[in-house]
Amino acid sequence: MKKKKIVLLCCILGCVSLAFTSKKTRSEAEAKPPVPKKSVTLIIDAGHGGHDPGNLNGTKGMLLEKDLNLLIAKKLGTYVEEYLKGKVNVIYTRKTDEFIGLENRVSVANSKKADYFISIHCNSDSKTQISGTETHVHNANSKVGLDLANAIQDQFLNRAGRSSRGVKIKHDRGYNLMVLKDSKMPAVLVECGFMSNSTEEAYLNSERGQSLIASAIFRAFRDYIDKRHGIKQVSDKSIAKQISPMYKIQILASNTPLSTNMPDFKALGDPIEEIKLEGTTFNYKYYVGTFSSKKEARKKLKAIQETHFQDAFIVRFE
Ligand SMILES: [Zn+2]
Repeated sequence: MKKKKIVLLCCILGCVSLAFTSKKTRSEAEAKPPVPKKSVTLIIDAGHGGHDPGNLNGTKGMLLEKDLNLLIAKKLGTYVEEYLKGKVNVIYTRKTDEFIGLENRVSVANSKKADYFISIHCNSDSKTQISGTETHVHNANSKVGLDLANAIQDQFLNRAGRSSRGVKIKHDRGYNLMVLKDSKMPAVLVECGFMSNSTEEAYLNSERGQSLIASAIFRAFRDYIDKRHGIKQVSDKSIAKQISPMYKIQILASNTPLSTNMPDFKALGDPIEEIKLEGTTFNYKYYVGTFSSKKEARKKLKAIQETHFQDAFIVRFE
C-alpha cells in the first residue's frame, strides 16, 4: 500500500515535471504536420514476466497475465513483420518468460530511438462483471499517443466487437505507468480485457481471441503510420482473411442498458451478449451467437427474424 502511494506520488510528480520540462519538446515535435518516413521502429512490450506474473488467472487452468501478454505481443509482432515488412523494425522487450525491470524496458526503447511503444497487459478487478478493453496514455500532451490510443479503441469497438472502456489518461496504472511516463516516444499501454470476468478470460485464453486483439491493434498502428508517415502496408492481402472472421447476430440496440433476462430476450432461448459502445447514441448492442461461417449465421438469423426481432441482422467481426 505504502509502495503504491509512493509510486502514485512519483507519477503525479512525474506529470508535473513533464509539464515543465519535456512537454515543450514533446508537443512541439508532435504538433508538426505529417512526417514522411521510410521506416519506423516499434517496441512491443509484453507486460510482466518471470517471477512477476502480473494478474493471476480468475479460473483454474487459465493462463497468467504474463503468458497472455506474451502471446498477444508475439501475434502483434508477427502481423507487423509480415504486413509491414521492411517498413517497421520490431523490437520486443521480451520474447520469453523472463523478468525484465521497467527501467530496462524504457531504456531499451530510448536507446534504440524507437518511434512507438506499445505495451500489452490484461486487466483484473474484484468486481467480476466488469469487462472491456482500455488503452492508457500518460498525458494528453502527447497527441500522437492519444491519437494512436483512440485508433486502437476504435478498432476494438467497431471491428473486433469488443466492449470499450475508452482511452484513459493519467489513470492509476501504478508502477506500470512508468513505461509510458519515461519513454521518449509516443507510448500506449493496452489492457486487452479482464481476466476476472469469466467470459472475457475465456476469450483472452482462446487463440481466436488473441488473434482478434492483435489484429485490432495491428490495424490501428498500420493505419496510423500510413496517415502520419505515409508508410503503406506491403502486402495487399487482407489480414482478416488470415484470421477467419466471426459473425454475430445483432438483435437490438438501445440508448439505455436492458436486462438480458427480459421476456423477449428469454423467449429466444439463447444467451444474449451485451456490448457497450462509447460515443454513439444507441450504445448498448445486443447480440446472439458467435458463428465461424456466414451460412451458419444466416440459418440462425432466419429463425430469429420469425420472433419479435424481425430487424435482426448479421454483423461480421475480424
Ligand atoms: Zn499488467
